[in-house]
Order: sequence, then structure tokens, then C-alpha cells
Amino acid sequence: MAERQVAVDALGEPRFRARQLSVHYFGRFTADAAQLTDLPRGRRDLLARELLPALLTPVRTLTADEDMTRKTLWRLFDGALVESVLMRYPDRTTLCASSQAGCGMACPFCATGQAGLQRNLSPAEIVEQVVAAARVAGRPSNVVFMGMGEPLANYRAVLTAIRRITDAVPDGLGMSARGVTVSTVGLVPRIHQLAAEGLPVTLALSLHAPDDELRDELVPVNTRWPVREVVQAAWEYARATGRRVSIEYALMRDVNDQPERADLLGRLLRSYDRRGWVHVNLIPLNPTPGSRWTASRPRDEREFARRLRDAGIPTTVRDTRGREIDAACGQLAAQG
Ligand code: SAH
Repeated sequence: MAERQVAVDALGEPRFRARQLSVHYFGRFTADAAQLTDLPRGRRDLLARELLPALLTPVRTLTADEDMTRKTLWRLFDGALVESVLMRYPDRTTLCASSQAGCGMACPFCATGQAGLQRNLSPAEIVEQVVAAARVAGRPSNVVFMGMGEPLANYRAVLTAIRRITDAVPDGLGMSARGVTVSTVGLVPRIHQLAAEGLPVTLALSLHAPDDELRDELVPVNTRWPVREVVQAAWEYARATGRRVSIEYALMRDVNDQPERADLLGRLLRSYDRRGWVHVNLIPLNPTPGSRWTASRPRDEREFARRLRDAGIPTTVRDTRGREIDAACGQLAAQG
């Protein structure tokens, strides 16, 4: 708010206009000059143009599930492309947001990982994805950083965006921090930093393999922070925040879906004493064009889940949405 007041002041307007504009944007999701009816008529265009610029231009929108799933490809001011996906359920609305244009983590099964990192998004470019969703479906109950990019590699912008998303109107959108999930490949120092922020956001760790040999291949950053270290960091996150951590595990046929790996994962997660600190989210792989990986057979998926549950680990199989609209991370941007 202080920065907005400075910006308003620089345009020769009284500082309270910052609050008025904030109510419009964060409280009513409007950036349209014509709707700024509590501002002087002669200043509306200038204020909207200077302070509420269009940050995202829709390039393409695809819908599925009778419009309950909606994926949008956006162009940023410099031509970079990012995607977000809006998923409506009877009891909640989730926006899957991007934190970077592209991604530098190079996971070989992920469409975004193939093209490399273009650039970080600004906090406003991240928040605007949520506001755009709110214009369609009302303020989302959940925001998950599972779109393009590695959120913890754009740490400052993502944290600022989370504060804007969770601060009360007019400082922010007023969402609950418990509705926000940060998903990461496992940048250990950043996980510790996030734990110290005092924000009860959910951490999701993209593990995908319980052993270093395989994880080195699937999530290359594993060569820097191996399985033991990332799981330890996730456990410490749970201990520090009291939030249950989510382990993401994309099941890939004959790659990481063997019964032995389910048992290894179960033993690994159970080796930490704190009960209920973790749950596993099994994700049927969304195959991307030209990739040699494909989704597990249903019976292998069931067996994998059964073994984890037998080991005492709460396990869910993710509902897959939007397969027919190429909703796997980065697929639309890759097509341009
Ligand atoms: N970089 C962060 C967040 C973005 S990816 C991370 O890796 O966690 C969000 C999740 O989607 C990750 O768990 C990622 O591994 C997974 N993912 C990427 N491509 C996928 C695909 N084709 N099928 C299923 N899950 C995929």
C-alpha cells in the first residue's frame, strides 16, 4: 500500500486514491477505467492506464468438463507465454498458477522443462492470474503453484504474490494462506526459508522417486539435494508450520511404479516419527507429445497406492482434469 501511495502521489493525486484503486482491484477485480466511479471522471483513464495496466493478454482458452476446467494461455507484455488452469468443483475453486515463463529444472517428463527458463514472473503477473480467475468464477478458494515454473527459484516474487493473495482487502485478495500450495522440485535452502516465513501455506514436494538413482534422472536437481535431504527438509517444514506436507508422485509406467518402489517410499516416509506429517498424492502421468513416458497401468497404480496405505501413509490418487485440453504443465505454451 505504501508503494501504491507513492505511485499515486507521483501522478499528482491524493494518497487515499491508492486505497480506492486497491478496493477496485483486490476487492472487485476491476481494472476498468469506466468502473472507477468514485474517482474524478477526468482522471479515471490516466489512473487506470498508469496503475492498473493489462499484464496478461489471453491468447487461447480451452475448456473441458462442461466448462468446469478452463485453461488459458496468456501473453505477457514482452511476448513471453504462460498458462493457468481454473478448476471448479462443487465445494471449491482452484487456480493453478505459473510462477515463471518456462522453467530451468529440466524434468524430462514435463513439457515446460523441455524449453528451459525464459524469465521470472513479477508478483503482479502472478497475482493477475488469480484476479483473472476471480473475474470468471469468483475468488478462488485455492491457489496452487503447479503451473509453469519452479516457484522457489523465483522466491521473492512468489512470496510477495502470496502476501498479496492472502492479505485482507484492500491490501490483497483476502484468501486463506491454508488455501495456497507451493509445489517444488525440492530446493532445500528455500524450503527452510519458506518454513521461517510464518505463513501456513501447504508445501508440495515433487518427489517422483524414492531412490537417488532414478530421481537423478526424473528430477535432475536431485543431484544437488538428494532424496534424503529433501524429505528431511519437507519433514522439518511440517514440524515448523504444523502443516501436512504433500508428496507428489507422478506414476510412470514401468519407470517408478514398481511395488518395490512403493515399499521403499513407504519406509522412507515412515522413518520420521511425527504421525500424520505427510500424505502422498499419486498423479497419473499426463503424457506429453514425443515423450517416452506414459501413465501407469490402472492395476499398478492401485497396487502402489495399496502398499503405501498398508505402510500407514495417507494416499490419494489425483483426479485428472483437462487431459483433452493438453492441461499438463507447459503443453499449450509449447504449441505457441
Ligand atoms: N516446479 C514445481 C511446480 C510446477 S510442476 C514442481 O516441480 O513441483 C507441478 C507438478 O506437476 C510437479 O509435481 C510436476 O512434477 C508435475 N508434472 C509435470 N509434468 C507432468 C506430467 N506430464 N504429468 C503429471 N505431472 C506432471
